[in-house]
Amino acid sequence: MAISKVAKKSTAAAKKSARSTASTKSASGSARSSKTASFRGDLAPERTAAILRALDEAYPNAVCALNHKTPWELLVATILSAQCTDVRVNMVTPELFRRFPTPAAMKDAPTAQLEDLIRTTGFFRNKAKSIKGAAQAIVERFGGNVPRTLDELITVPGAARKTANVVLGVSYGLAEGVVVDTHVFRIARRLHLAKGDTPQKVEEELMRILPREKWIDFSHQIIHHGRQVCIARNPKCNVCNLEQLCHSRDKTWHS
Ligand code: SF4
Repeated sequence: MAISKVAKKSTAAAKKSARSTASTKSASGSARSSKTASFRGDLAPERTAAILRALDEAYPNAVCALNHKTPWELLVATILSAQCTDVRVNMVTPELFRRFPTPAAMKDAPTAQLEDLIRTTGFFRNKAKSIKGAAQAIVERFGGNVPRTLDELITVPGAARKTANVVLGVSYGLAEGVVVDTHVFRIARRLHLAKGDTPQKVEEELMRILPREKWIDFSHQIIHHGRQVCIARNPKCNVCNLEQLCHSRDKTWHS
């Protein structure tokens, strides 16, 4: 499905859900409060389940926003997405993959040409080095195929744990971990689902409390939520369908 359609659908679902929350807020406020208060704590399974249900309602079709056709393309796009928006990456990758469609082709790509193609994604010299290193490793050690295990994938240049989790989850449907990007890190802490001060600690906490079958969807949904509603500064709490479940200190109300 086209990303713009997914985003529109997710936004519409979020708004619909938020409208529903707003319309019932005054009528059922006290009932909702007592329901929230009945949770045994922030990590109570029923509270986690309620958060997951709200995310399913708001973002039923959340998928990875990086355009790709193969695991290799997703790996490259994910490397390029560091410190860069997915929109910008999606502008660069069609021509990049047209010229160098496979790890074998990318391995021998002239560095200057590769850097030029990815320049606008930032840190292009380091990224070009990672992509060529990844291509070489995949050709020489994995027969030209992106590996399917976390242990193997994290040995590929440019593929740290987060990148490996993205590729395994999206391309292979393998839930080996939870993708913790800047949105997941921020929102997991705002929702008091995690306290860790590093992505790795937050991932470990999330893996303990989330059902494994939700690990992949949860990250996609939270990333959409972080882009559309729970933004870093001034989150839009008045249109957030998680508001009744959220005890964040930096809730913000827009008029
Ligand atoms: S209520 Fe506000 S801070 Fe909490 S999850 Fe929603 S947008 Fe984020």
